[in-house]
Amino acid sequence: MRHATDPLSERNDPGPVPPTAPKDEAARVTPMMAQYVEIKAANPDCLLFYRMGDFYELFFSDAEIASRTLGIVLTKRGKHQGHDIAMCGVPVERADDYLQRLIAAGHRVAVCEQVEDPAEAKKRGPKSVVRRDVVRLVTPGTITEERLLEPGRASLLVAVARRKLSDDGALYGLAAIDISTGRFSVMETPQERLAIEFARLEPREIVCPDAIYDDPAMKAFWREVNVPVTPLAREGLDAASAERRLKEFFGVATLDAFGAFTRAEIAAAGAALAYVERTQFGARPPLSPPVRDAGAGTMLIDAATRTNLELTRTLSGERTGSLLATIDRTATPGGARLLAERLAGPLTDTAAIANRHDAIAALVADSALREDLQRALARVPDVARALARLSLDRGGPRDLAALGAGLTAAREIAALLARQATLPQDLANAASALAATDPALPTRLTDTLAEELPLNRRDGRFVREGFDAALDELRLLQVDSRKVIAQLQARYSAETGCRTLRIKHNSMLGYFVEVPQAVGEDFLKEPWRATFVHRQTMSDAMRFSSVELGELEAKIASAADRALKLELGVFAALCEAVLAQAEPIKAAAAALAEIDVFAGLAELASREGWSRPVIDDSAAFTITGGRHPVVEAALKRDGKPFVANDSELSPPGESSGGGRICLITGPNMAGKSTFLRQNALIAVLAQMGSFVPAASAHLGIVDRLFSRVGAADDLARGRSTFMVEMVETAAILNQAGPRALVILDEIGRGTATFDGLSIAWAAIEHLHEVNRCRSLFATHYHELTALGDRLERVSNATVRVTEWNGEVIFLHEVVAGAADRSYGIQVAKLAGLPLAVVERARAILSELEKTEREKPVASLVDDLPLFAAPVRRTAPVLAIAAVDALREALDELDLDEMTPRQAMEALYRLKGLG
Ligand code: ATP
Repeated sequence: MRHATDPLSERNDPGPVPPTAPKDEAARVTPMMAQYVEIKAANPDCLLFYRMGDFYELFFSDAEIASRTLGIVLTKRGKHQGHDIAMCGVPVERADDYLQRLIAAGHRVAVCEQVEDPAEAKKRGPKSVVRRDVVRLVTPGTITEERLLEPGRASLLVAVARRKLSDDGALYGLAAIDISTGRFSVMETPQERLAIEFARLEPREIVCPDAIYDDPAMKAFWREVNVPVTPLAREGLDAASAERRLKEFFGVATLDAFGAFTRAEIAAAGAALAYVERTQFGARPPLSPPVRDAGAGTMLIDAATRTNLELTRTLSGERTGSLLATIDRTATPGGARLLAERLAGPLTDTAAIANRHDAIAALVADSALREDLQRALARVPDVARALARLSLDRGGPRDLAALGAGLTAAREIAALLARQATLPQDLANAASALAATDPALPTRLTDTLAEELPLNRRDGRFVREGFDAALDELRLLQVDSRKVIAQLQARYSAETGCRTLRIKHNSMLGYFVEVPQAVGEDFLKEPWRATFVHRQTMSDAMRFSSVELGELEAKIASAADRALKLELGVFAALCEAVLAQAEPIKAAAAALAEIDVFAGLAELASREGWSRPVIDDSAAFTITGGRHPVVEAALKRDGKPFVANDSELSPPGESSGGGRICLITGPNMAGKSTFLRQNALIAVLAQMGSFVPAASAHLGIVDRLFSRVGAADDLARGRSTFMVEMVETAAILNQAGPRALVILDEIGRGTATFDGLSIAWAAIEHLHEVNRCRSLFATHYHELTALGDRLERVSNATVRVTEWNGEVIFLHEVVAGAADRSYGIQVAKLAGLPLAVVERARAILSELEKTEREKPVASLVDDLPLFAAPVRRTAPVLAIAAVDALREALDELDLDEMTPRQAMEALYRLKGLG
C-alpha cells in the first residue's frame, strides 16, 4: 500500500480522517476500526470503500458524503473513541452504479478489498482482522468499467509538465492517456495554446506537479478549464525520473525507438504514467508507447469557438443536435470515438487530408462494398476497451467474447476490402492491420465460450458445454444434486405430513428446511428433534438443518467449487492467449475504428449529397451551394427545404494581400447566423477529412478558426455580456493570422448603439488592415456597409426577404448587396408581441428614421474623430479614413506658391494627420 508520504501520491490534503487511536481504555478502538483508520489515513482525499462481506462500507464523514450524494440510508455501527460511527454501504454487485455517481459528483474513491482468506485470519487468533488493502483508486480519468464510460467518448487523463525558458516564458508538456483503450500521446505547447489543447482533448482529469497547480498565474486557468485537477507531490516527476519510469514500464533501454521527445514531453508522460501506476496498484493497463500527438498539425480552435459552433455538444451541453451527432453514421463505439477525435482536431496537412478524402471517395464510389462493410462493422463490439479491462485483470467472460466477435469481424472486413484491386493508402494500411491478427484466436474464443455469458467470471458457466469433459461431469453432478434435493424435500414432506415444507438456500445458512411456525414447534420435540436441528425462527416460519442436507450441501459445494476452479483456469488461459497478442489486437481495433469512420462519412456523403472539397495551401475560400448540416437535418425532419448559398472569401487578386471580409446584413431570422456558421463548419469538416455539405468547395488551409457571437452572458465567471464579447473580440484581433478564418456574429451589440457601431467599425478595419484573414461578419448596423466602398477587400452581402400582405417572408438566399432594413418589428410581431406594442414600435421607428434622414450616421463617419483615426499607429497600412484625410490635405497644397518655411509647416501638419 502506498502512503501519502510517497513522492508519487497526491498531496496530503486534510481529508475526512477519523481521530487516531485512543490512549485510554474508555475510548477503546476495535481492531477492525484501527485497520480502517490506518487505511483511511493513507488515502485522505478519497472516499474509502471498505469491503465487508457482500458490501463496501463507508464510515465517518465518508459515510455522510456518500449517503448525501447517493441518497442511501445513513446508519450507525458501534462507537469509536466514545462517538457513534456513521456508516452506510453499497452492495458489491451494484458498486459500479454508485461509483459512477460519486465520480460524476467529483469524488475519488479508494477501493479496499479483503486480501486474505478469512480462514487465514482466524489462524492468527479469534480476534484477528482479515487483512485488507486498497487495490485501486477510482478517479475520473482512470476508469475502465463499461458502465462508467461513455462508449463514443475517449476518457483521457492528461498530465502537464513545464519547461521554463530563459526569457521568462515556458513551454508545457502534455501527456494524454486513455487507460480504457491504451492510447498514450504527448505534445509540447506554449502557454497561450494550453487552453486550446485542453478544449480539443477534453480530458476527464488533469494531473500536474503541485508547483504548476499552485502557480498563482495558473489559478484562473484551472477555473477556466473546468475539469478536476489533481496536484501531485513534485518529487520523482522530473524529466530524468520520468524517463526511467517510462523505460521500465515499456521494457526498453532508450526512448529513442518511440521518437524524439522534448524534456517537457517526457516529464509529462512520466507524470501521467506515475499517476496510472499509483491508481491501479500494480495492475498493468495495455498502454501503447507514447506517440507525438497530432496537436501541432491541427486547426487551432479555442473553447469559445467550439461551444459557439456546437461541434461536439450543443450550447446546452447535449450531444444530440451537435455537428458530431449529425454526422455520426459510425457503427462501433471505437469508430464513434475516433470520429469525435477527428472532428475535435481537423488537420492542417494537405497530404494527410487528401488521404482521408481518397478513402471516403473510394467508399462513395463502391456503395456495395460500403454497405457490406457497415453490416460487418455493426457486429464489432468495443474491442479496445474489452482488451484494456482484460489487461488490468478486471475483465469478464463478455470481454473475451467481445474480442472473439471483434477479431472474427476483422478478418471478414479484411476479406471485403481485398475485393478492391487497389485501395487508397489509409484503407490499405487499415486492411493490413486487420489481416495481421491471428485467425486461430477468435476461433479458439468462440469454440470455448458459451452462448449466454455472465458478467463476472466468478459466476461461472461461461465455458461451452462439451469443451471440457471433467467440467461437464461436475456440472452434471450439480444438476443431479438439485434433483436429489427435490427428492429429499418430497420425502421430508411426506414423512412429516407438512405439505408446505420447503428446502431453501441462502448464503448464511446454506441449505435449510423451512416450515410454518406451528409445524416448527413440533420439530423441536421428539421424534423430529433427532432429525432436524433448529437454526432460525422467523416471524411466521422456522428453519432447520439436517445431517442429510449438510452432506448434500458439501457435495454440491465441492462440485461447484471444482467446476468454478476449472472455469477460472480456462479463463486465465484465454486471457493469456489474448494478452500475448495485445499489440496486433490494438492495431486491429484502431483499424476497425478508422474503417468505420470512413464508411460512416462515405455513407453520409452519399445520402446527403456531400462533395469532395479541394484543399490546398492557397488562401482560397470558394464555396458553391453550401449548407448547414445541422439546420438542414432539423428542417428535413419538418419536411422543409434548406436554401443552399455560395460564399467567396478568397483574396480578390494575387497582390491583394489578404482574404476577403464578407459583411452580411439582413433582417432578423433571415439566416445570417446559419450562413456564417455553415462556412466555418464546412472548413472544419473538410480539414477533418470529410466530404462537405456543398456542391463544391475550394479551401486554402485554415490554421486557426474563430467564431464569436455577441451577447452571451458568462455570469458563472462574473463577466457581463459586453465584457465577454469584448474579451473574445480582443482575442481574435490580437491572434488571428493571415490563414485564420474569423466568424463574427453581431459584435458590438451589447452596448449603446454608437459605442457598438464604432467598435464594430474599428474591428473590421483592423481585420482588413492588420489581420488580413478571411472573415464573415454579420451585423444589424447597416451603417457598416459603407465600408464596402472604402475598403478594398470588404464585400457586402444580404439575405433576401420579401413582404406579402404586410408579412415578411424569409427566402434565406444570400445575395450581394446591403439590406434595406431590419424587419425587426415584423419579426417581433411574428413572435407574438402584443399588437399595441408592435404599433407603438412602428410609430417610434418612423420618428427615428425621420431624424436619421436629416443627419444620417453613415454621413457622420468622416466627421467623427474615431473614424478618422488610423487603426493602429504601428500598423503597416494606415486606416483608410486617415489616408483619405492625408490625400485631401496634400491636394490642397500649392507647392509652387509656398515659402520654405510654409513648406516645413505643411510637412508638420501632414505628419500630424498620418
Ligand atoms: P437574428 O438576426 O435574429 O439572429 P439570423 O438572421 O441570424 O437571425 P438564423 O438564426 O441564422 O437567422 O436563422 C433563423 C432560422 O431560419 C433558422 O433557425 C432556420 O430555421 C432558418 N434558416 C436559416 N437559414 C436557412 C436556409 N439557408 N434555408 C432554410 N432555412 C434557413
